[in-house]
Amino acid sequence: MTRGPRVTRIDDLPVRDELRGKSPYGAPQLDVPVRLNTNENPYPLPEALVERIAERVREAARALNRYPDRDAVELRTELARYLTRTAGHEVAAANVWAANGSNEVIQQLLQTFGGPGRTAMGFEPSYSMHALISRGTGTGWISGPRREDFTIDVAAARHAIAEQRPDVVFITSPNNPTGTAVEADTVLALYDAAQAVKPTLVVVDEAYGEFSHHPSLLPLIEGRPTLVLSRTMSKAFGAAGLRLGYLAADPAVVDAVQLVRLPYHLSSVTQATALAALEHTDTLLGYVEQLKTERDRLVTELRAMGREVTDSDANFVQFGRFDDSHTAWQQILDQGVLVRDNGVPGWLRVTAGTPAENDAFLDAVREMTKEQSA
Ligand SMILES: *Cc1c(COP(=O)(O)O)cnc(C)c1O
Repeated sequence: MTRGPRVTRIDDLPVRDELRGKSPYGAPQLDVPVRLNTNENPYPLPEALVERIAERVREAARALNRYPDRDAVELRTELARYLTRTAGHEVAAANVWAANGSNEVIQQLLQTFGGPGRTAMGFEPSYSMHALISRGTGTGWISGPRREDFTIDVAAARHAIAEQRPDVVFITSPNNPTGTAVEADTVLALYDAAQAVKPTLVVVDEAYGEFSHHPSLLPLIEGRPTLVLSRTMSKAFGAAGLRLGYLAADPAVVDAVQLVRLPYHLSSVTQATALAALEHTDTLLGYVEQLKTERDRLVTELRAMGREVTDSDANFVQFGRFDDSHTAWQQILDQGVLVRDNGVPGWLRVTAGTPAENDAFLDAVREMTKEQSA
């Protein structure tokens, strides 16, 4: 009798019960001409910035025998300056904390304020990593409601909070994958509803803040020590490969996450690269303006084709509706354009790319619409 090598699978290992049978986060990455599926910024960093990064990293390399600045003070100071200048509220380094992507910021927040015996709530469909990081930190996940048009129904959300008593509440604005912005009044209503039950951490995930028609929700942290704003350099700064996310909150929150962060979590190379990028903020925000124009064009042209489109404040657009979104996704892919099926029945999501990429996408949808009505 011949036997192949024995294959060990995850479930053969003594992994934690809540991880059994689960799949990791993974947007399918396919090798196609036009990839508009992960909300990346399509513009590579400008050459002058690439040079500046090389300079700053060379400097950092000379001190790589030492551990990095554990508290990333220079970087937090520059991030605070950036927020003060662009987000309508003055903050200092003591209000800001940085980590390897906002996903790590969220993980640190959940390690600090969630964990076993505690729960987190988000209003779905929303960013799937909130639920996944909750699971990874042993925090129970509660799916809160949204309206049919993907806005948050304040009365229903308040009811869910009062009933379920979460320890952490996520509000994503602009929301991913729908593009929907959340009004400041709504955030305040949910914040108050949560605090009325017990002191509750409310995390406003503003990963797409720079792309919004609405002002940042940053000013809401004033006088609210359990309200945290989370941001990233992955989208507006066109630096998804850098892995740099940050939060702004009361200094006590910054002190609290230091109880769980790994020592020296942010490498000297990461800090040097992020600092170089922050020196080029104006150029990078210029790309954001171009992307906003392209985003608005996608909305207008898709609607002109008779497609339904959710209002977008982000660098992507949710469009539909399809009887079978997976088939529609495949038909667009067959024409060389990769968009995202986030599992929201009837809808797909496209990231705003360069004008040429967006033209290719719009042509693909036009072609698909013809096929479907043929
Ligand atoms: C892309 C995204 C992030 C960014 O995560 P990073 O770890 O900073 O790359 C965070 N929140 C939302 C809602 C996102 O869509």
